[in-house]
Amino acid sequence: MNPNFLQTPIPYLKGVGPNRAETLRTELGIETYRDLLHLFPNRYLDKTQYYKINQLQPSGADVQVVGKIIHIKTVEQKRGKRLVATFMDETGQMELVWFRGHKWIRENLKLNEPYVVFGRTARYGSTFSMPHPEMELLSEHQQGLKIAMQPIYPSTEKLSAKGITNRVISKMVQQLFLECKGQFPESLSLSIMDELRLVSKSDALFNIHFPKNQDLLAKAQFRLKFEELFFVQLQLISKKILRKQKIKGLKFDEVGTNFNSFFNEHLPFDLTNAQKRVIKEIRKDMGSNAQMNRLLQGDVGSGKTIVALMCMLLAIDNGFQGCLMAPTEILAQQHYNGLKELLGKMDMKIALLTGSTKKSERTLLHNQLENGNLNILVGTHAVLEDKVQFKNLGLAIIDEQHRFGVAQRSKLWHKNDVPPHILVMTATPIPRTLAMSLYGDLDISVIDELPPGRKPIKTVHRFDNNRLKVFQFIKDEIKKGRQIYIVYPLIKESEALDYKDLMDGYESIVRDFPMPDYQISIVHGKMKPADKDYEMERFVKGETQIMVATTVIEVGVNVPNASVMIIESAERFGLSQLHQLRGRVGRGAEQSFCILMTGSKLSEDAKTRLQTMVRTNDGFEIAEVDLKLRGPGDLMGTQQSGMLNLKIADIVKDNQILKSARFYALQLFKDDPRLEKEENKSILLAYSKIMQQSNIWNYIS
Ligand code: ADP
Ligand code: MG
Repeated sequence: MNPNFLQTPIPYLKGVGPNRAETLRTELGIETYRDLLHLFPNRYLDKTQYYKINQLQPSGADVQVVGKIIHIKTVEQKRGKRLVATFMDETGQMELVWFRGHKWIRENLKLNEPYVVFGRTARYGSTFSMPHPEMELLSEHQQGLKIAMQPIYPSTEKLSAKGITNRVISKMVQQLFLECKGQFPESLSLSIMDELRLVSKSDALFNIHFPKNQDLLAKAQFRLKFEELFFVQLQLISKKILRKQKIKGLKFDEVGTNFNSFFNEHLPFDLTNAQKRVIKEIRKDMGSNAQMNRLLQGDVGSGKTIVALMCMLLAIDNGFQGCLMAPTEILAQQHYNGLKELLGKMDMKIALLTGSTKKSERTLLHNQLENGNLNILVGTHAVLEDKVQFKNLGLAIIDEQHRFGVAQRSKLWHKNDVPPHILVMTATPIPRTLAMSLYGDLDISVIDELPPGRKPIKTVHRFDNNRLKVFQFIKDEIKKGRQIYIVYPLIKESEALDYKDLMDGYESIVRDFPMPDYQISIVHGKMKPADKDYEMERFVKGETQIMVATTVIEVGVNVPNASVMIIESAERFGLSQLHQLRGRVGRGAEQSFCILMTGSKLSEDAKTRLQTMVRTNDGFEIAEVDLKLRGPGDLMGTQQSGMLNLKIADIVKDNQILKSARFYALQLFKDDPRLEKEENKSILLAYSKIMQQSNIWNYIS
């Protein structure tokens, strides 16, 4: 085969003129032979098998069943009539249904004769029904030869309108196979194919389009999924290796006075083993010659802040500055306060920079940063502005990664001549499989242990009509000296309405919890930063007992005395958000509660989310459910990754294949890092093709 065969523009294919080519391009993005070859069928009609009625599944697949019609009746309904035939085999009965063409069907159908019926089944109650089946007498059916499964390709209205039907696409693919005699260059090594018993590339491509049976189809799918994930992993791993080789990092080999004096004299509690382990991992990274790019995962409340601080002290001990970025002003403020408190009397210059920092302060701050008088800068996105220049930034920490994008990460790279070490902290646990795909280029550390003495939060679901009881519960908790959060949803699309809900809610709470017995704070995004801070401060100091808020308090806010989190309209929140919100309580020694309030109408997904929250406190488990419900594309931050444009593999369902793909990719790099060996030639060729098309390197250079 000509090596550039697959690059051939699609109009060259026999049967595809300029008109069809244009439609293929606009509707399916198909421009070359390669694109057409990789247009995989969505599903297959399986005429190779016969199902018994008791084997039918409510899956909506198209199947064929052999049986007899024992009864036909016409059913009157509001809009027209429906013809219903009772169809039976030795295992049970089902219904065949027609909404049109009754007369012809009634006259031609034979009772009590064996038929093969073919179509999509649906279940109503306990009975399966097949609307408008293809019908064939068994005697005639047996004469025809129907051995293959029929591929069904993705389609659009416009494609059908222009006559590019499923059959036409299938013909085009056949033509492509004819032109190259069905031979495609292999892209995996023999050893991998042997070990995993993979079918060849040519076989896989043939059987994904024209499978003879389920088994061959499954083998083709497995091979192509593996290959797809394997090359994604190769890209991620090589990106990481290249970064480590090419980009010289700052070497922090001193564990100096600041780190030691903090550890020995200022540590307010013993570190958990997980915290110790993670600090060690980070120290090792920053002490090598490579530039660190590490993701630190830890559930809410697992104690990431102190890890961040100790790592910044390491940077400072080596003559560098540190910076910590948070996604909101409240959080940045709280980090700033928290770090100052932790540092106590240590001689450390630390400052806060946010959008609302005054201009005069800002100028001063810029100067201090540039001449190195400032050790630690805490801030929001404001830190990323070009005007903010460091004397020597050694470590940049980003809290709550999902609010920041890759582009922002890369901005930090340029804050120093030699790129600083980067630590990304996230409290939204990402399932390991997804982390591998999204952040396969980062190293990952996990704090998988909560500080001792925490009582697991009790979570319940209550309907709105139980509100009085919930309010009584709040009163009891306040009597015990506790504080309460009440959170309202705030979603861009319905912002005006949401604000109204929030204010209505606030007013009703003020009525039910009157002054002077009760003091109430309110915080939302439309308030001036200074007012927000003031209200927040009052709650932190315990001057108010109830905090009514939107999700601005979602991340990070730390008030150990708050023991109840009430989430209004909880059905409108995503799982990870619910988990984040719940993490605001359970930070002190007292038993904490999370109450999920909802209306009575709930979707299935909403029920699953609520049940999951009630069942478990484990962020990783919650993330897995979230991933299953929403798919990886919807998880926060995944849009930026660009690594999820998978054609055939599914990160959730093909989790095992992903693991094996990663394993083999790692092994390949260990064994033959430059892909020089003859046996890996096919991988090298395929890989270079992919790299030509990919822009994955952009943010490194
Ligand atoms: P997160 O990981 O959510 O950012 P924080 O760093 O805010 O968690 O820590 C949550 C709370 O736990 C803070 O009050 C902090 O002081 C406390 N904490 C952190 N580590 C420990 C520990 N090893 N022992 C006891 N308390 C700890
Ligand atoms: Mg935090």
